Amino acid sequence: MARKPILAGNWKMHGSTAEATALAGGLAASVGAHEDRGVILAPPFTALATVLQAVRGTRIVVAAQNMHFEDKGAFTGEISPAMLADLGVDHVILGHSERRELFGENDEVVNKKVTSALAHGMTAILCVGETLAQRDAGDTLNVIGRQVEGGLRGVGADQADRVILAYEPVWAIGTGRVATPEQAQEVHAAIRSTLGRLGLPGDDIAILYGGSVKPDNVDGLMACADIDGALVGGASLDVESFTRIVDFQ
Ligand code: PEP
Repeated sequence: MARKPILAGNWKMHGSTAEATALAGGLAASVGAHEDRGVILAPPFTALATVLQAVRGTRIVVAAQNMHFEDKGAFTGEISPAMLADLGVDHVILGHSERRELFGENDEVVNKKVTSALAHGMTAILCVGETLAQRDAGDTLNVIGRQVEGGLRGVGADQADRVILAYEPVWAIGTGRVATPEQAQEVHAAIRSTLGRLGLPGDDIAILYGGSVKPDNVDGLMACADIDGALVGGASLDVESFTRIVDFQ
C-alpha cells in the first residue's frame, strides 16, 4: 500500500492566539487543499480552538502536542483525551523527546498515553529518538527498538491505521544539525522491521523524520524510501518555510 506523505508542524510553546490564527490562516490558504499529502498542525493547547476554526473547510488536521492518559480526575494542569475529543482534536503527538527529557516521561507512561489515545479513536504520533551519547556509543538501533516496542506495547494490527511514528534524533532537534538522509533512512528501515516483528503492518505505517528539517534539506530526506514525511519544529512557525516543506520536491 502506498503511504501518503505527512508533513506535521510542532509549534511547541510558541504563539498568541492572534499569531496562531494568522499562521494557520496562511497555511490554510497555501497548503489547505492538498490531497496527495497530509498536513498536520500542532499548536499549543491554548490555540487549538482558534486553529481548528482557522483551518475549517480545508484538509489540514489539527493535533495536540501531549495529553494525559486518564479521562478525568485530580491531575492539575493536565488535559485529557476526552477534552481533546470535545474540541474536535483527534491527533496527538506523544513521547516527544522534550516530554521525555524535561518532564520525565518514560516508555511506560508514553505507552499508556498511546493506548489511551487509540482507545479514544485518536491518531497517535509516537516520537522516538536517541541522544548523541547513545549514537556515539553505537546504541542507536537498540534504543529506538526499545522505544518503539515500549511505546506500542498492546497496540493491535487493527489500530495500526491510527499510528504514526516520528524518528527524531535528540541531537538534531532545534540544533540545526540534521541527520543525513542515510542516517535517517537506516533508522526508518529498522523501525519498519520492528513494526513487522510486533505484528503490525509496517509497510502501511507512516514514519516521519524530525530534527532541524528546513526548506533546504527536506527534499533530500523525502527522497529516502522509508521516510514518509517530516515532523517540523522551528521551520513550521513561518508560513513560507513550512509551505516549502509541505511542497517538497
Ligand atoms: C521537533 O520539535 O519535533 C523538531 C523536530 O524541532 P526542530 O525542527 O526545530 O528541530
